[in-house]
Amino acid sequence: MVIFSENEKLTPTIVELKNQNKTIGFIPTMGALHDGHMSLVKASKEQNDYTVVSIFVNPTQFNNPDDLAKYPRTEEKDKELLIKNGCDFLYIPTISDLYLENEKAKHYDFGTIDQVMEGKSRPGHFDGVATIVSKLLRIVQPTNAYFGEKDFQQIRIIQEMVKQENLNVNIIPMPIFRADTGLALSSRNARLNDKQVNEAPFIYKILTDAVNLKKQGKKIDEVKKNVEDSFNNSPFKLEYFEITDEETLLPITNFSDSKNVRGFIVAHAGDIRLIDNIKF
Ligand code: AMP
Repeated sequence: MVIFSENEKLTPTIVELKNQNKTIGFIPTMGALHDGHMSLVKASKEQNDYTVVSIFVNPTQFNNPDDLAKYPRTEEKDKELLIKNGCDFLYIPTISDLYLENEKAKHYDFGTIDQVMEGKSRPGHFDGVATIVSKLLRIVQPTNAYFGEKDFQQIRIIQEMVKQENLNVNIIPMPIFRADTGLALSSRNARLNDKQVNEAPFIYKILTDAVNLKKQGKKIDEVKKNVEDSFNNSPFKLEYFEITDEETLLPITNFSDSKNVRGFIVAHAGDIRLIDNIKF
């Protein structure tokens, strides 16, 4: 694996490969890598000649400085995992390789898709995400870029940014990679204590229960109430549970209002924010 910390060295390497008609798969990450990230690397390796991973904890997408400070950083382990999984290039820049001094996120107009759920809970978050992904896509110039459906709203934002900026890349959504217990793998899980790790699969259970209730013919209001009630005697605090159309991300009132329906949940284990979603 070749490691780059400067875009000025990485881009010419990629351009040379693309001139040889090689395809490039790209997985942008914030590090603290786990098997969820590796499922994206595996897909990229199967579908492209070369695979690039970036590790960059992007300050402009954190609206909470404490969350940024506490974000897990495991650089050496990450490198080992990437080598083991056959990653070809790692781009691990410093802030100054991507941002000018005091540079802020670009302000995007995404209509309603960044006004709801994560956009509402974390003001400015998606401007930060779109800004960094746009910069990274221009540097790496991939044929295909892979994103996990764990951050489903993020994928919708990136698809929209790519359209607005007319970038030449395929955005490939990838299914959520879960532990055997059902818990969606996440870098933030590293901060859970043993008790919380044992309890956290509760969140996926609630989502699968919700899907089963729909199958039994329950209405959206009833499904939502069941989710909210389930949190009454649980160690987790529910931040939101929304049932929306996958395209607009706007809440629907009847399951028949949309062909592609997804349920989105955020719950807190102490100060750790856990995010998950499920297709109905
Ligand atoms: P992050 O490092 O959390 O920014 O994640 C980098 C990429 O990996 C994003 O596209 C995430 O959606 C994706 N990802 C993280 N966890 C998972 C998971 N459990 N399953 C699938 N994709 C994931």
